[in-house]
Amino acid sequence: MKIFLPLLLILLTISCYQHNEILHVRTFFIMGSEFEYKLYCKNKSRCEKAVRESQERLNEIDYLFSNYREDSVLAGVNRNAATGPVTVPTEFIYLTQQSIDYSELTKGAFDISVGKLFELWKKSSKTNQVPEKSQIESALKCTGYKKIRLNKVNNTVSFDSDCLELDYGAIGKGYAVDEVVKIVKSHGIKKGLINFSGNIYALDKQTGEKGWEVGINDPFSNSSVIDFINIDNLGVATSGDYEKYFLINGKRYSHIIDPGTGYPVENLSSVTVLADSATKADALATAFSVMGREKTEEFAGINNVRGVMIIDGDRSNYEVYKSPGFKSVQEAD
Ligand code: AMP
Ligand code: MG
Repeated sequence: MKIFLPLLLILLTISCYQHNEILHVRTFFIMGSEFEYKLYCKNKSRCEKAVRESQERLNEIDYLFSNYREDSVLAGVNRNAATGPVTVPTEFIYLTQQSIDYSELTKGAFDISVGKLFELWKKSSKTNQVPEKSQIESALKCTGYKKIRLNKVNNTVSFDSDCLELDYGAIGKGYAVDEVVKIVKSHGIKKGLINFSGNIYALDKQTGEKGWEVGINDPFSNSSVIDFINIDNLGVATSGDYEKYFLINGKRYSHIIDPGTGYPVENLSSVTVLADSATKADALATAFSVMGREKTEEFAGINNVRGVMIIDGDRSNYEVYKSPGFKSVQEAD
């Protein structure tokens, strides 16, 4: 008894602390999107410190990969890598290599070299004119991840093309979430959820709860949710044409471009992916939007993707597909 009493006291103290954890919610705007933290901390200052440190990290990521800033590393690469090697930080090489790996894995459906095509469609939505076939063909010549050259010894990027442009819009937010998760964990915070505009990573759930409830947006209705999932230790991303799109002559075109044809993808209204990291979920949700339902089903089975949910069709006629992995995560709720 004498031996067990101190142990019992220690255990009681731990459980008391667990229940004294405070849910700390913080939201702010960065890179034009909402970034949300839900963290359980033993004291407020620990949460605040983690949030502050990760905000600095987000600014660093923005400086590297932003395509809205003239002074970003990416802007320098896009301006100069066609004429010769551009020296970049190691992190730039790292995410570019990851992106190339996702291109290989998805047979080119995911491709950060769609920059010129994306710009063409963006410009078309401003002039309200669908691009000419010849313009698509020219932009296609400026596309192709195999034209990106990385030198990991000298830390340089160069292009085998005089007009290629990189765009990290399909992977950058997921990557930013994973980097913030690392910082949060380094502060000893274990339970929480990080959400960067629909790119999510759920850490441990609160004791006694089913998981972090994540709503999947209804692509046909602005503010409602079509389904829910309770998760922990899992990344989630949704790609779709319901929030970001190009409007040309009254028709909505997806902001996801098929790098094979140069045209925006059609049919799949939304694709939600569950994966071990937010980066992977982000990259694959974009790739699956290009691949379409059949190829995605096949891919998810072979490559052990944790879960996929596809809303296939339009408002008047659509089907919801859930992969076996998605269903089993949902059934375990
Ligand atoms: P997401 O919302 O994650 O699906 O990313 C879409 C964004 O990624 C677009 O707004 C473009 O900036 C870029 N993008 C478009 N098509 C592709 C593609 N096939 N592969 C990689 N990035 C793309
Ligand atoms: Mg994506």
